[in-house]
Amino acid sequence: MYDPKSKKAEEFIDNDEILETLAYAEANKENIELIDSILEKARLRKGLTHREASVLLACPIEEKNEEMFALAKQIKKDFYGNRIVMFAPLYLSNYCINGCTYCPYHLKNKHIARKKLTQEEVRQEVIALQDLGHKRLAIESGEDPINNPIEYILECIKTIYSVHHKNGDIRRVNVNIAATTVENYRKLKDAGIGTYILFQETYHKESYEQLHPTGPKHDYAYHTEAMDRAMEGGIDDVGLGVLFGLDKYRYEFAGLLMHAEHLEAAQGVGPHTISVPRLCNADDIEKDTFTNGIDDDIFAKIVACIRIAVPYTGMIVSTRESQKSRERVLNLGISQVSGGSKTSVGGYAEPEPEEDNSAQFDVTDQRSLDEVVKWLMELGYIPSFCTACYREGRTGDRFMSLCKSGQIQNCCHPNALMTLKEYLMDYASPETKAIGDALIEKEAENVPNEKARAVVKENLRLIEQDNRR
Ligand code: SAM
Repeated sequence: MYDPKSKKAEEFIDNDEILETLAYAEANKENIELIDSILEKARLRKGLTHREASVLLACPIEEKNEEMFALAKQIKKDFYGNRIVMFAPLYLSNYCINGCTYCPYHLKNKHIARKKLTQEEVRQEVIALQDLGHKRLAIESGEDPINNPIEYILECIKTIYSVHHKNGDIRRVNVNIAATTVENYRKLKDAGIGTYILFQETYHKESYEQLHPTGPKHDYAYHTEAMDRAMEGGIDDVGLGVLFGLDKYRYEFAGLLMHAEHLEAAQGVGPHTISVPRLCNADDIEKDTFTNGIDDDIFAKIVACIRIAVPYTGMIVSTRESQKSRERVLNLGISQVSGGSKTSVGGYAEPEPEEDNSAQFDVTDQRSLDEVVKWLMELGYIPSFCTACYREGRTGDRFMSLCKSGQIQNCCHPNALMTLKEYLMDYASPETKAIGDALIEKEAENVPNEKARAVVKENLRLIEQDNRR
């Protein structure tokens, strides 16, 4: 049997094993006895193997699918409550030497405006993001050792953390840059990053090599083993993801779960987050040439099955998704969403003129952060601007064991309420504030421990008086 620990990620996420998994899932997709036993195991909230989860994903039986959705909702509720963490992407540079056929940053795209933020522009972007109310960013960059070397990325991180504007410090910078060396990961760790995020794009090696015909990203093994190097470099929290639409979704799903299994076995801690991006329209991309797109039903089922299979992992959905699609998957397992996002370089401080078009892809959900926060609250969620775990060292295996034991709830719920209160005081429109204040009042009563409830209420009162600790 496969030992995820003894192999490198690239060897473990093996094509033959994935094909066998898919055949097993296909053969058993209507095997009610097996499906029931998998669901029984899933109810223990200890996760599922890629084989078990693949059977669930393949299952067409409506009644069983309803059970899966109900379980995913329950697990989401048990581990993450009704909190949704907010973040925004910050694009630093779109210079890129790769040839990714689905990404407009590819080297041969001559009609995209190439931009790289100066440190002053980074400051302006951060101020604009802080003025919206963001506390947590994911920085994004193309891969270009001359224009965006690691030193440039590190300098940007330093600048971001140094901007103190009104009440608006950025407290967590997550990083989504190309696969790099252990040494560079160590530098990122020393710069105080939160999660290192890298999407696998596709786990299908042959497709991967075709989709990345040129540039350093062509190297499948180097890309696939990036998370192991990141962890070797001391980064505790890593974020996985595949770009759905590039290859067959069942294949990607099995690969993604195998990657999570590998990290857990080999590094002692699974992925901190899993992202579920879907391919979007973008400049110089012939979307019609990508025929593996998935519809909203399959997308929702993928989210639910990931939630069941890896219950402790945060799940991220970005503004690539429409309001409608985001609404559907929120309660199936999503714990983080972006809001008010711009995918152009410099797009927060200065909206980009149409002819410039430095954007990476067309944002589908174009609402402002205020609108997204209001929408979430109207749906009964608590938008959270909390970054306390990271600041208090609850990362990597410490976060995971807290999350797995359900303990994370005890600190997250109060922190979410207090950071939401600060957001409402500092940035929200009057309508959003009114909805939020009512929600906070109601949710403060849901802090289980009496003493903690009293502390939260007192802290909320102090924030209301602008007396912050
Ligand atoms: N350059 C880095 C890399 O190669 O991993 C990461 C940054 S890139 C800005 C972030 C992600 O955007 C990529 O990993 C890819 O999955 C996604 N992306 C690229 N083109 C896209 C498109 N047309 N639609 C949706 N997402 C896309």
